[in-house]
Amino acid sequence: MAKTVLIVEDERAIVEILKFNLKREGYDTLEALDGETGLQLAQTADPDLILLDVMLPKMNGFDICKTLRAENRTTPIIMLTAKGEEVDKLLGFALGADDYIVKPFSPREIVSRIQVIFRRMNQMQAAPDQGRLTIGNTVIDLKCYEVRVGGESVLLSPKEVEILHLMASHPRQVFTREQLLDNIWGFDFNGDPRVVDTSIKRIRKKLPEETDVLLRSVYGVGYKAEVRGDA
Ligand code: CA
Repeated sequence: MAKTVLIVEDERAIVEILKFNLKREGYDTLEALDGETGLQLAQTADPDLILLDVMLPKMNGFDICKTLRAENRTTPIIMLTAKGEEVDKLLGFALGADDYIVKPFSPREIVSRIQVIFRRMNQMQAAPDQGRLTIGNTVIDLKCYEVRVGGESVLLSPKEVEILHLMASHPRQVFTREQLLDNIWGFDFNGDPRVVDTSIKRIRKKLPEETDVLLRSVYGVGYKAEVRGDA
């Protein structure tokens, strides 16, 4: 069945270009030209992925993203942003977006980012048991994007869950920023590599102190996961 991409964007020309290119790739599309309609469609039409502009009439893209994540919706979201538009906020993906693309973008770039996300979701569905990892008191479940420490649920963004799962699956292996970017964001990521540092910082901050999975910095190289008591 064709996947449905919801396009939330107030510039009609961009909507048309995206629609054309996505349909050509075999995707179905839904469109919203303002934030309120976009949020409503995201909540009611159950799209497989959302392309979300930041500056929108009625409700901005950040607030839409925040609202959806607060409702525990894990629909992948790619933010569309103008150059220089609150890049710091985007860098941290603090709102739970999966990726972002700076305008002007090529339709090919968008399509390839979407494919990266769908490919990862397919891999997960093909091997559901591999998605669940238990390390001491910490359970990382990629299938439902859930992390629990001592039975208590920890609210991480989808990307943060993926990073934690990848690193915790290979304890003590050092990951460089580039490796994490390639694995989590996709080979064609051309944003700022600092997004890795910001994400790791957020994961550390959100995980309760008693977790058995510790993310360590390896100076000048990158990051690794350690199991408490193992170091
Ligand atoms: Ca706009």
